[in-house]
Amino acid sequence: SGKWKVALVGSGNWGSAIARLVAKNVKERSDDFDTEVRMWCYEEDYEGRKLTEVINEKHENVKYLPGISLGDNVVAEPDLLKAVEGANALIFVIPHQFIQQTCRQLEGKIPEGTQAISLVKGVEVKDKEIHIFSEVIKEHLGVECAALSGANIANEVAKDSFSETTIGCRDIEVAKKWARLFETEKFRVAVSKDVLGVSLGGALKNVVAIAAGLIDGLQWGNNAKAAVMRIGLLEMKKFALEFFPGTEAETFVQESAGVADLITSCFGGRNRKVAEAFIGSGKTFDQLEKEMLNGQKLQGVETAKELHEFLKARGKVNDYPLFTFVYNVAYEGVKPDEITAHI
Ligand code: NAD
Ligand code: 13P
Repeated sequence: SGKWKVALVGSGNWGSAIARLVAKNVKERSDDFDTEVRMWCYEEDYEGRKLTEVINEKHENVKYLPGISLGDNVVAEPDLLKAVEGANALIFVIPHQFIQQTCRQLEGKIPEGTQAISLVKGVEVKDKEIHIFSEVIKEHLGVECAALSGANIANEVAKDSFSETTIGCRDIEVAKKWARLFETEKFRVAVSKDVLGVSLGGALKNVVAIAAGLIDGLQWGNNAKAAVMRIGLLEMKKFALEFFPGTEAETFVQESAGVADLITSCFGGRNRKVAEAFIGSGKTFDQLEKEMLNGQKLQGVETAKELHEFLKARGKVNDYPLFTFVYNVAYEGVKPDEITAHI
């Protein structure tokens, strides 16, 4: 399929960590890839300067991934259309709440034959319908879109600690090329045809991680947290099989994008951390996100709301007690310590 020229749509915590891996690989594998990697950066001020300017001067995302060198072949670009111009391989890695507005700007602008991959963890609920982001991106751009998801806390991947990930892609040749772009000795890639399962594992675990964080905040211990994780995993699987026919149940137990991502997120993720701080704070998740995450975004709280909207429209709220409980705590003022009466 010729050489790929890669652009990233996104430059947050995970976007920057992945830019670093990709930048290293395109240099070493220049037979397959153009060696410049453009990275679209939603522009903001950083200590009186433009963030993109600082990134391009220091080759470091000083705000979202401080202390990590991205490589001098990563070029931060504030203009979305300029960032993707000339690229034929697009990596979508922005918080899920911004995908819709970002894709709209790209409509009609992406050449046929371009490949895309979504690293976004979330689902889109619109007009009472639900979609994974690979589908949303495909609809807007008219190009094929794979998915990458796994137990991948960005700060750990950025330090080259060992981790695994899963690429969901139906075309095996394209999957191999994506794997060649991302894989390193310390970042192991498995390939699956189950794009749905790979995407839904990452999306739904964010809600379970909120529940796990609430348990941590309540100081109920490891047994309680393990129970919430077990119940959460079953709800994730049930939801995927019920509403996304064709999803493979095994993905949830066999792939990094399933149970492994759930585990790492429930112990080391941002959703967990903020939910722990929620207990006894008297603050909303929005407030805590702003205070604690320095511009990074939670995915689990909005996802709980989106799932709730979707389930309510179908009269299925009671079939998913853990998802529903997280929604009720975040939006309806239900007390977290009532969880055992509900799940
Ligand atoms: P993040 O949480 O660091 O979010 C901040 C980014 O969002 C910044 O780049 C900011 O400029 C951007 N942003 C803010 N407002 C915007 C707007 N209106 N339009 C577009 N962008 C805007 O982002 P992240 O950690 O890179 O996460 C992106 C996706 O990757 C999420 O779905 C997340 O679940 C997933 N993910 C994250 C991690 C992780 O450890 N951070 C790991 C795996 C997957
Ligand atoms: P958080 O968004 O909760 O930090 O989860 C990160 C993640 O997806 C790890 O795989």
